[in-house]
Amino acid sequence: MPIFFHFDFTNKQKYIFATNTLKEVVGASKIMDDINKEFAENFKETLYSGGGNGLAIFDDKKGVEEAVYFLNRKCLPVGISFIYTSHEYEKKDNAAYQDIKKRLAEIKMRGQAPYIDFFMPHGQLCKSCMSRNVSSNGDADFCFVCSAKSAAGPDAHNKIIENMNLNGGPGKWFLMNLEDIKKDNLEDKLYSVIAIVKMDGNALGKKLTSFIDKYPDNFLKTGKLSEEINKASHSAIAQACLDIFDEYIKNEKRMPFRPLIVGGDDIAFAISAKYAFEFTRKLSEYFTANTDGIGFDSPVTISAGIVFTHSSFPIVQSVELAESLLSSAKKHGLKLNPVNPPAMIDFQVMYGSLNDSIEETRDRECTIIDKNETIELWQKPYLLYEAGYEVKTIDSLVKKAKQLSSVIDRSKIKKLREIFKYDENSRSIMLKQIKNNIKNVKDIDGRKTFDECMNWAKENSKAYNCNGSTRREGALDLVEVFDLI
Ligand SMILES: [Zn+2]
Repeated sequence: MPIFFHFDFTNKQKYIFATNTLKEVVGASKIMDDINKEFAENFKETLYSGGGNGLAIFDDKKGVEEAVYFLNRKCLPVGISFIYTSHEYEKKDNAAYQDIKKRLAEIKMRGQAPYIDFFMPHGQLCKSCMSRNVSSNGDADFCFVCSAKSAAGPDAHNKIIENMNLNGGPGKWFLMNLEDIKKDNLEDKLYSVIAIVKMDGNALGKKLTSFIDKYPDNFLKTGKLSEEINKASHSAIAQACLDIFDEYIKNEKRMPFRPLIVGGDDIAFAISAKYAFEFTRKLSEYFTANTDGIGFDSPVTISAGIVFTHSSFPIVQSVELAESLLSSAKKHGLKLNPVNPPAMIDFQVMYGSLNDSIEETRDRECTIIDKNETIELWQKPYLLYEAGYEVKTIDSLVKKAKQLSSVIDRSKIKKLREIFKYDENSRSIMLKQIKNNIKNVKDIDGRKTFDECMNWAKENSKAYNCNGSTRREGALDLVEVFDLI
């Protein structure tokens, strides 16, 4: 009788982003990919193996033992821990497939295996992850896990280029150092700000379930399907690069862009702040186009969370924040359409401490209480592109911010940020003051433009379905974006 074997690496995110060194981040991600690939090559019984997990259907217990032995041998030396489960079934069918997935989810719920961290009381601290695992041989400053990640880094760089099918010599495509992203912005006031973007597919679980339920042996095709999604991601990134970084590529300059994770629909990258919105939108559009016709009833949309932050901030915290923004974007998309959610984007500029959650930051800096009414001075998330909903697109926000910047200067924008902390009465007086000082720029009626922008920020409040005592205005979104474009 068939035995289903299902495994999953634990603490994937933590493993990948345990360091601020880009080479180690991409190296860690490659180590996981390689183990997945080798698993599939070693066991022809593999149904799929990717994104840190896998499923195989063996004929006997021996196959399972070999699989566990293989994973132990591959994972432990590089500091990866994993959980697995196996179970014998009457038949190789959809019911068995669903059951083994449930069993693994239950193990996950009960608690993940601890992150591997050996403690040696007299050991030296690793320079990268601060664990006390510094190896006695080889590189004396780093632990064995960080050494392994670092060693895999340069190769990961080439692999990404290869998978993306970009033509061009390796080495001139991406930055190997996050700090380098700011070099592209040297003339800007934004020289130290980068965007960390996290994206993943909307309602993919639901789509997968309905795909599997459609035909009895469709579960056997899940491997093929996840390959198609993986391809869709890689191609979409390549397509967006060619569109946005055309000039860089032509001049053989490095793009101010660095993929961090590209596995299945799971995408994370760092990018120069000024390209973040447009690149993300393009990537999202291409991804959806690439998933058309791969087997689902409809193409897969993909949402994004972006945190704008200092390039020297710990990347693990930036990625966590980007992830919570992503989940806010996706949640709102599901509210608009539970079956085929539109592609949404949420973002936040975090120049201060990264220790606050997004909610805390928004409560503290972007919310005012006025005559028993709570006014949230943002209208996030936005649509990534027009999809026929009342919510506005990120493009329209960028355009309005540009329009605003054409009539008032930077110092006034700072003032705007302050003004919104006052009650409605004082605010309208101060807004009038700013407005009266605006002069016409060439043939643009400055005051009219200012009013237009301010009203634009208000007009969409009801699209967010806030409860009766809360109103959502996008004034601070304009101010926030003003700084980035
Ligand atoms: Zn280390």
